[in-house]
Formats: sequence, C-alpha cells, structure tokens
Amino acid sequence: MELLIRNGTVVDPAAGRTFESDVLIKDGRVAAVEKKITARGARVLDAAGKLVTPGLIDMHVHLREPGQEHKETVASGTCAAVHGGFTAVAAMPNTDPVADRPEVIRYVLEKAREAGRARVYPVGALTVGSRGKELTEMGALREAGAAAFSDDGRPVADAHVMRRALEYARMLGVPVISHCEDLSLAAGVMHEGLVSTMLGLKGTPAAAEDVAVARDLILAEMTGGRLHVAHVSTAGAVRLIREAKARGVRVTAEATPHHFTLTDRAVAGFDTNAKVNPPLRADADVAAVREGLADGTIDVIATDHAPHAAHEKEVEFDLAPFGLVGLETAVGLVFTELVAGGVLDVVTAVAKLSINPARVLGLSRTIAPGAVADLTVIDPDAAWTVNRAELVSKSKNTPFHGFKLKGLPCATIVGGEVHLAARG
Ligand SMILES: [Zn+2]
Ligand SMILES: [Zn+2]
Repeated sequence: MELLIRNGTVVDPAAGRTFESDVLIKDGRVAAVEKKITARGARVLDAAGKLVTPGLIDMHVHLREPGQEHKETVASGTCAAVHGGFTAVAAMPNTDPVADRPEVIRYVLEKAREAGRARVYPVGALTVGSRGKELTEMGALREAGAAAFSDDGRPVADAHVMRRALEYARMLGVPVISHCEDLSLAAGVMHEGLVSTMLGLKGTPAAAEDVAVARDLILAEMTGGRLHVAHVSTAGAVRLIREAKARGVRVTAEATPHHFTLTDRAVAGFDTNAKVNPPLRADADVAAVREGLADGTIDVIATDHAPHAAHEKEVEFDLAPFGLVGLETAVGLVFTELVAGGVLDVVTAVAKLSINPARVLGLSRTIAPGAVADLTVIDPDAAWTVNRAELVSKSKNTPFHGFKLKGLPCATIVGGEVHLAARG
C-alpha cells in the first residue's frame, strides 16, 4: 500500500527549514521526498497549502486506563490524539493501579496495540504507588517499555528520593519528569493573586513551583541525571531553568497551551474547566512562559491532557478535580497564539511538538527516506471554533469552548496509516 502526499510544504525542524515537496510512503516508511513523484496506484493525499511535519508527539497526557475508564481509555485518548494531530503520546502513570509494576506498563502497551491509533509511550512511576517513599524497580519498568519516569500529579517531596531517582534514571539513560510543586506552599485551588483574593478562593503562590524547580535543578546538577520539568507555569521557573541550562545542567522543560494562552482571570466565572494544576497564572507568568518558548528555555509543548467526567467537574470550585483536556485544541492554540502571535516561527513551533519531545524520550522523528512514516499534515490557515460537543475525548472539560482558532490538523499518519481528523 502506497500513499502519496502531494504538493505539501514539508517542515523539517532538524534542518531548520521548510520546502515544497511530495512525500511517498510505502510499507509504513518514507520511500521518497522529492518534487513531482509519480506513483501509479498510490492513494493520493492533496496537501497543497498545507504543512507536512514530522509526527507530533504529546509527551504529557493522562489516559486514565487502567482504573478510571469513565474519564478516558487508551482507545478514546489515542483517538483524541490523532484528531489533534498527535502520532504519539507519553502516558502518565497515575492510573489505578499506578504504573509502578511492569504488568501495568505492559497492559497499557497492549491496550494501545489493540486501539491501533497513536503510539503510546508509557511513563513508569518513580516511587511505589507514587507515594514518594521508595523507588520502583525502575530497571524492570524500563525493560517492560517505560520511556521515562515520573510521579506526575504528586510531587516527590523527599529530596533524597529525588536524588536517587535521578541517579538510577541516569544509569538507565532516561529522563525523570518532575511535577514541581512544594506541597507545604501549595494548598490552594487556583493561583494566589488578585483574582483569588477577589473570588475568595484559596491560592497557591508561584513560589510553590519555583521552590520545587530550584531543588530539582540542584539535584540534577549534583547527580548528572536528566531532569525534564513538566508544565512550567511561572516566571520564576523559566528564569531558574534558563540559568541552569546556561550552566550546563541536563534539563529540559515543557509548557502547555493553557499556560501560554490563559491567565487566572479565566477562573473568574468559577469555571471548573479552568481549574488545573499548576494553576493558570498571572500576566507576567504567561509572558515569561512565551519568552521561555521563544528563547529555547522551554523545549517542548505538551498538553497535560487530563480528562474528567462532567459530573466530577460540575461541583463547587473548591471540590472539583484539577485538569483539562488538551489533545484536540493544542495545534490550533499553538498556531493561533504562538505562530500567528509572533512568538515562534513555524519551524520552531513544529520542533517543540515533534523532534524536541522525541529527543527527550530518546525517539527519532524525521521526514527522510527510510524513516518510519509518522507524519502530521496541518492546515495552518483553517479557521475553526472549538466546540466541546465535537471533542472525541471521552471527557469534555475544556476551557476553550467557543475559542476561534486558526490552524487545524487534517491528517495524522502513524506507520503509514492515515487517521483523518474530520473536523472544522
Ligand atoms: Zn503534573
Ligand atoms: Zn499531568
């Protein structure tokens, strides 16, 4: 089975350029990248006016299976992924049971194979039950397929445990993904600031993140382990990571579309869909995150896709769970807020969605003959309006309902197989 993507603009972030070309895919691999390819009998995908990019990877999602299948499953989550243009996702381990044993890692991989949509790279828990006390058998988890380690959702409070985790992860050649939050400071339900005061809600200060980022950077420097800071949301964290990178600390970082788009003012109507952890921050933080994306301090854009059922979110703000769904709005937000907004050029934006997360996870993503045919086709000019009813994720908890965006994934190709996002 051959697939010919015709007349597209190929975005090659590794080479830092774009060029007009056809792309021929054969037996799940890229067979040719040339102008005017003729391939009799091939299925043709017209990509005129569209971008053909290396397959997008969302390295931070919660698929909720096993244990919370009413929120999302591996099948529904990977369906949302391909609708959002993502050919692969890294699945966080805070499932029920927690992915702290090889069986759970293998279970998630098996479900992903059955679903046959986006690739899934499971993240193994750092500590048993993600309780922050004793390390998991990281070697066995790695052998079962864990691509990285994290206790995401629950920060590792004990600095010694984090030190050991970084040391073991270093030996295994994988990163530790840290949810940086000092719990002794983080007792709030939103960002601590003017808006929380006006609403009478308890706030979590930016310092809760800054303190934890500082500690983990010091430990990464000490151990030589690879630290990946999840969902950076504060100006302080951006500054600390920038300084650490300049010193040569092995650190990478990610930011989410909601943290570079929204401020704590999104909470003003007590919309529980805007209740997220880390919380939506102040203007200066959003500006700093954008600056961090622009100057390379923040390497990766990831969604922290965190589905919750309607009945769980339709409660008092204080009681609602943290999290929003992000897979299907990410590309639109990146192209609208960052590319059209003048923060990133197309090549850099695509790098942060594809080859940079691939590098962090030790994968490769290229559009060159012989490479696995994981590609995304994006219409950068397609205008559309976010409608929560049209999301294919099992959960609809998005604060972006009604947002007018420009930039829509129109084909997600995984191993040469086309998954079309028929939206818009
Ligand atoms: Zn987290
Ligand atoms: Zn998360």
